[in-house]
Amino acid sequence: MLKVGITGGIGSGKSTVCRVFSVLGIPVFESDKIARELMNTDTEIKQQLVDLFGTAVYLPDHTINRKYLAGIVFNNPSLLAQLNTIVHPVVRKTFFDWCEKQQTPYIIHEAAILFESGFYKMMDKTITVITSEHERIQRVMKRDGITLEMVNERIKNQWNDQQRMELADFVIGNNDDELVIPQIIEIDKKLRADG
Ligand code: ATP
Repeated sequence: MLKVGITGGIGSGKSTVCRVFSVLGIPVFESDKIARELMNTDTEIKQQLVDLFGTAVYLPDHTINRKYLAGIVFNNPSLLAQLNTIVHPVVRKTFFDWCEKQQTPYIIHEAAILFESGFYKMMDKTITVITSEHERIQRVMKRDGITLEMVNERIKNQWNDQQRMELADFVIGNNDDELVIPQIIEIDKKLRADG
């Protein structure tokens, strides 16, 4: 079974593309979502986050205070790296355990920072979703109700499309004027043949 990593800049349409793969019967591991869930459920992660960031990192209902955490790590690369050191190994283990249970020719691992984190090295193939920065900004502002400055801050912290395309095996264009489903079907065909 092939492990296929999918990534792309913020708002490029990773999750949207993954929904299509899912409709085609391909299991999708949403690593960013799983990481957030693990911060709420994994007792070891929780203890380490409290040790590092203090008790305010959890809300009274014991769920992670994402706003507080983001405020701390956003402009502090060292604390962000420490956060990743706590969370990433557990996400990895969860992913490989999950893979054991899948029975399709390939599976998809969706991650915003697939390349930045180095996790792409554990994938057999990678896909990057490319959408113009202008469209991504419009989509994210609309989806999340945030300002242009906030989107730009996030873009600044990620690799650019050129860097992602250099490492990707497949590229999916998801601009308004591109048909995304035929591109996905084509990639699905190739991956099923290889898987
Ligand atoms: P993030 O990096 O923030 O997790 P993402 O890459 O997963 O984002 P999506 O959430 O899939 O991106 O898409 C961003 C927004 O753009 C969503 O509101 C989605 O519905 C919309 N969108 C995705 N693809 C298209 C498209 N081809 N045309 C118009 N809107 C789109």
